[in-house]
Amino acid sequence: MEMAYTIIIFLFGLVFGSFYNVVGLRVPRKESIVHPPSHCTNCQRRLTVLDLVPVLSYLFLRGKCRGCGFKISWVYPAIELLTGLLFAFAYWELGWSIEYIVALLFISLLVIIVVSDFAYMLIPNKILLFFLPLFVIGRVLSPLTPWWDSLVGALVGFGILYSIAVLSKGGMGGGDIKLFFLIGLVLGTIHTLLTLFLAAVIGMIVGMIVLSKRKQGRKTPIPFGPSIALAAIIVYFYGDPLINWYLGFW
Ligand SMILES: [Zn+2]
Repeated sequence: MEMAYTIIIFLFGLVFGSFYNVVGLRVPRKESIVHPPSHCTNCQRRLTVLDLVPVLSYLFLRGKCRGCGFKISWVYPAIELLTGLLFAFAYWELGWSIEYIVALLFISLLVIIVVSDFAYMLIPNKILLFFLPLFVIGRVLSPLTPWWDSLVGALVGFGILYSIAVLSKGGMGGGDIKLFFLIGLVLGTIHTLLTLFLAAVIGMIVGMIVLSKRKQGRKTPIPFGPSIALAAIIVYFYGDPLINWYLGFW
């Protein structure tokens, strides 16, 4: 029975992931998320119901628009798959609980942010403002111990990122700063600090890989949002084991 639930949740996750692609791409451009229906950005061909089946449609179409042959980015099916896997993994870890709903919301926020940060180097306020009250309610119903750790975590996360932004004179985007307020709310103080540390490490590794592969002279900035999202997910599920493992060194 557990297995059946996990598979159903995975399939739901795929569909949500497909929706988060739309949200992440349209909200920053101030477009409606329901109208117009999904279409090819090249030839405007409307996607049929069949084209909208997550992941599978991408495989059937071999990554090309049926109308004009325009190449569809692999990022879309990757986001769908990632959302499905994370929804299922969270269920496997947490089972039916209020915390599971918090986890689903947290995953949803991070996935949407990865999409819009990848596409536009932007973390939209609208998205953050949508999730803020949901996390507040989530942490009232499923509090950290002690309960006020959410509040301190939010302020510490926001404060540190804000300080970095001031000291580096704009080296940190406003979206990243506000995002860390929300991360602090969900994770609490210690785990927020761990997320920041891990995000910096991941960001540095990603930066080195990208720079080594990039043609010289190009200086497009690398979005930091995906590194933050990956770090936050790892810490959400493995924060305590990571800290214990680290403390074991001393
Ligand atoms: Zn097309």
